[in-house]
Parts: sequence; C-alpha cells; structure tokens
Amino acid sequence: MTANNKLVEVKDLKKYYPVTAGLLARRLGEVKAVDGVSLDIHEGETLGLVGESGCGKSTLGRTLVRLEEPTAGRIVFRGRDISHLDREGLKGLRREIQMVFQDPQASLDPRMRVGDTIGEALLIHGMKDEGERERRIEELLMRVGLEPGHAERYPHEFSGGQKQRIGIARALAVNPKLIVADEPVSALDVSIQAQILNLLADLKAEFGLSYLFIAHDLSVIRYISDRIAVMYLGKIVELAPRDHIFDHPLHPYTEALLSAVPVPNPHIKRERIILQGDVPSPVNPPSGCRFHTRCPKAVEDSPKIEPPLIEWEPGHWVACHRFRK
Ligand code: ADP
Ligand code: MG
Repeated sequence: MTANNKLVEVKDLKKYYPVTAGLLARRLGEVKAVDGVSLDIHEGETLGLVGESGCGKSTLGRTLVRLEEPTAGRIVFRGRDISHLDREGLKGLRREIQMVFQDPQASLDPRMRVGDTIGEALLIHGMKDEGERERRIEELLMRVGLEPGHAERYPHEFSGGQKQRIGIARALAVNPKLIVADEPVSALDVSIQAQILNLLADLKAEFGLSYLFIAHDLSVIRYISDRIAVMYLGKIVELAPRDHIFDHPLHPYTEALLSAVPVPNPHIKRERIILQGDVPSPVNPPSGCRFHTRCPKAVEDSPKIEPPLIEWEPGHWVACHRFRK
C-alpha cells in the first residue's frame, strides 16, 4: 500500500516567530514553533501528525505548503528544493500542494459563490475556457458529495460538513499530488466527521493523493493514517507505522497520549498516565530532552543532552535516551 517513494523530504526544518514588545517592536526572543523537524512523506501514504495544542503542528503544515518561509532547514518535494521560492515558484507549487483548513467557515470567502471559489483556483492555474471551467466545477462538486446547482450558492447556505466538502473540492481543483489537511474534521459534529474522513480516504485512492493529516484526536489519526508522527514542543519525538504506534509505543510522551484513549478490548488494561505540569513555552524550551520536565521516565541525561531521532526498529523512529544505539 505504502510504496517507499519519497514525495516529500523535510530536513532539520525550523520556523521561528519573533516575540516583540512596545512601539519600537523590541525583539524579546523567538517562538520556536518548529525546531528541527526531519521526516519524509511517502508517495500514496497518509502521514498523521499528532500532538497537543501549541506544539507546532499547524506551523509545520503551513511551512510545508509554503504559506510560511522556513527559518532554517530544507523541504524537498518530488526531488526539488522548495524551501525558498519566488512568486512564480510558489504559484507553480500551489498546483501540486494544497491545504484543507480546520475552519471551513473562515477559509471560504462569504461574498463569493461556491462555483466562483472553485473556479478561481482553476482560472489561476490556466483553465481559461469558461465552459470547461463550469463542467469541471460541477464534476468536483458531485465528487465531494454536493450538487452541481450548489455552484450558484453562497457559503452561509451550507452546513459545516458541506462547507468542508467545498474546501476539499477547491483543493482538488488543481489536481494536486499532496494535500495538507490541518484538523479538517475537528470543528465538525462527530456524526459528520466519519463522512468527511471517508470522503478523504476515497479521494486519496481515486486521485493518487498523499496526505499530511494533522489532528489532536487520536481516534481520528488512527482511522486515517498509514504512519504517524508524534510532535512535542516543535520536535518529532516518535514516528512509525500506525499499528506500531498504537500497539507498541516507545516514547513516554506517546504512551501518555495513548493512555488517554479508551481501549475497545476490555481485557486490555491501560493505565492512565497523567502528565505533570503544563506544556513549557516554545520561547524557552527545556534543556536536553524537552519532554524531561514532564516525563515519568526521565533519566540522568534527559535534562542535559538532546536525544536524536533514531531508527530503533526498522521504520520505527524515536527520540528518547531510553532507546540508544
Ligand atoms: P498547533 O497547531 O500544534 O496547535 P501552532 O503551530 O499553531 O501549534 O503553534 C505553535 C506555536 O507557535 C504556538 O506557541 C503558537 O502560539 C506559535 N505561533 C503560531 N503562529 C504564530 C505566528 N504567526 N506568530 C507568532 N507565534 C505563532
Ligand atoms: Mg493547529
């Protein structure tokens, strides 16, 4: 299912935001939202990205689609370095990488008819013939479970789930290779979430897509992902095929996240691990392993040395002093 062709290679990626104060915008420091992330996205896979709120998931996603300029590091897409691009380069990239946002309401222009929103994407990418555009808009609307006549309507006439379908149609319009979906179902009723997840899964097969799928909800991540990356305070702490993460987590942070999820099998008892303290600030992350301040299994080196992300078992990566080669 998951061929090991690398669609995206991310190397030591960093995205820092300045923290400023006062009229003169005195620079007080930096928010290290993404602080040295390396990972690959394989052709045809869904890579799930999970972690607590504020750990840098959206920033990583936005930097990957190049809505943000990286502070350091490299993003290689289909063999091409896309870390820094000019306007033309970015425009070309939009044809290959698209984003679906969490809040379908905010991501659609309320004054634009749905057909125009989708048509705009087609026009920007060179589909000049109006009749051809109209046919393609109708086709896309039907493919995401809406009706051709919906093209004439405005976003406020749709439910949350329908708006997300429109967001997906807009992303699909340019025939992208990769879609970064940033919590695409978090804002929806639970009953609607499964429909949208199923739609995304069907589209992936049909259009030969790959996804970076961001969520904080582990049951959503489990349902949709081929592999899963776990993020903590700007870093990837564990990355493995889905079943490895759920059946055999290595990192204490992953264990804690999983312990909060109900287990369907009543014979398996999982102890709930309550993490101590709050998530530290990404302006001044803890020394060494940045999870050490909350880690129930910290060792002597944890506050002193930053553990590298290593391949502990084939395909199973972890950054923790308890797993050292
Ligand atoms: P997540 O999506 O995992 O909740 P984010 O990527 O949104 O996390 O945020 C990571 C950190 O970066 C947070 O501390 C957030 O406040 C900060 N941050 C995100 N975007 C900006 C920005 N444009 N300017 C300054 N800080 C930001
Ligand atoms: Mg986010």
